[in-house]
Amino acid sequence: MFLTISTTGSAQRPATDLGYLLHKHPEKAQAFSTSYGTAHVLYPEADAERCTAALLLEVDAVALVRRGKGKGKGRGGAPDAALAQYVNDRPYAASSLLAVALGSVFSSAMRGVCTARPELPGTPRPLRVEVPALPARGGADLVRRLFEPLGWTVTAEPVPLDTEFPDWGDSRYIRLALQAESLTLAEALRHLYVLLPVLDDAKHYWVSPDEVDKLLRVGDGWLAGHPERELITRRYLSHRWSLTRQAKERLELVRLAEADDSEVEDLDNAVEPEAEDEERPTPLAVQRREAILGVLRASGAARVLDLGCGQGQLVQALLKDPAFTEIVGVDVSMRALTIAARRLKLDRMGERQASRVTLLQGSLAYTDKRLKGYDAAVLSEVIEHLDLPRLPALEYAVFGSARPRTVCVTTPNVEYNVRWESLPAGHVRHGDHRFEWTREEFCGWARTVAERHGYDVEFLPVGPDDPEVGPPTQMAVFRLDTPKIDTPKEAKAA
Ligand code: SAH
Repeated sequence: MFLTISTTGSAQRPATDLGYLLHKHPEKAQAFSTSYGTAHVLYPEADAERCTAALLLEVDAVALVRRGKGKGKGRGGAPDAALAQYVNDRPYAASSLLAVALGSVFSSAMRGVCTARPELPGTPRPLRVEVPALPARGGADLVRRLFEPLGWTVTAEPVPLDTEFPDWGDSRYIRLALQAESLTLAEALRHLYVLLPVLDDAKHYWVSPDEVDKLLRVGDGWLAGHPERELITRRYLSHRWSLTRQAKERLELVRLAEADDSEVEDLDNAVEPEAEDEERPTPLAVQRREAILGVLRASGAARVLDLGCGQGQLVQALLKDPAFTEIVGVDVSMRALTIAARRLKLDRMGERQASRVTLLQGSLAYTDKRLKGYDAAVLSEVIEHLDLPRLPALEYAVFGSARPRTVCVTTPNVEYNVRWESLPAGHVRHGDHRFEWTREEFCGWARTVAERHGYDVEFLPVGPDDPEVGPPTQMAVFRLDTPKIDTPKEAKAA
């Protein structure tokens, strides 16, 4: 089982940089043992102009049977079936085994980490990948549909069953060559890691629920917008229906959040934050953050959840106040969390400070054990990003399951939109807002939620409270009303 990655270079950017990127020295042949055999990394060519790294996986067919998902099956079955466990295409065909080897031998490269030369991983370079035998269910056409949208030029030639007998037709294998000019090595490796097993469509291991997280992590930045994302998800998760559905929903949220991020105009930040001078009003986003901090401080909360934390502005503000001893930011968008981590300089933070903050990826449309037991939760400008039919799921996850003592929810007041001069009549403030509520609609929702889950609720305006249309942002503060209905069981009965 074999795969090569090549790059070309120039005097300023020698091709041998590939060695740094892969964390494998071009002058050495190295071997790594994996659960299914030995992975060898060697460089058939390495000079300033061209450099090729080869990954060769020697599969141990016996280990494959012992540890694979076929374990236990086939014993005492038909002799042919038992034999097929040992005699099959696994040693030769690029499949999930190769993908796993790729992920473990080149794990830093896949994450885009290069301590020795930190400037290298982010730079796209010409790349060529060749896989001589790729089992491709769906044929050359599917191979193109999978790789071309990602910026690859694809050459996919069917391998004949037997070159001496052309009449026998083609095998299900493809000789694949991919060429790209503007991808980084990390991107290339992530594409291969997901798409090789997708093309083979037969994983060698049991697909567990944490594969959804893995898929979203490795697919970050390219999967959510891929036209074949559904097929990729289904096959990657071995057609396990419930996992596929979960992944599909999460990808959809990521896709929308990404579209949201790229909005050019953000009304809330219409006034530059650095414009401190008296004449210029404080941006609404800043006023909202101040209002939320005020509510949290007054509640005496120390351990706080920022649900739908986006790019981490509130988390950053919370960190500045030592009263908040534990701050957890949660968002469905990996991209938002990456930006948040960068904003907070998580990697350079001192240990004590770092121990106060956690960023978690997760969807608020699912109950999540990790969110239980906090003093307070904030949902700042988040609910309007969910489709209305999904809102009860969020409501249960937050008020029914996580059940913090205080919950602070903000959302736009649609009545105020007539006051935004730059907003055309009838438009919502953001491309991704699924709804924007009047004060009456928001109060109605909040009162029902409070009643259903045993909270008291109070409403506060954020921004100038216009006598006719109210404030631009509306805020509801929920407090668990009495200690006796504090336990979920009693709350449900209430
Ligand atoms: N709270 C931040 C960001 C608001 S934008 C602020 O006030 O500035 C809305 C955020 O909610 C986005 O980052 C989006 O990714 C996130 N989001 C949307 N739906 C979500 C869901 N179901 N689960 C978790 N986060 C979600």
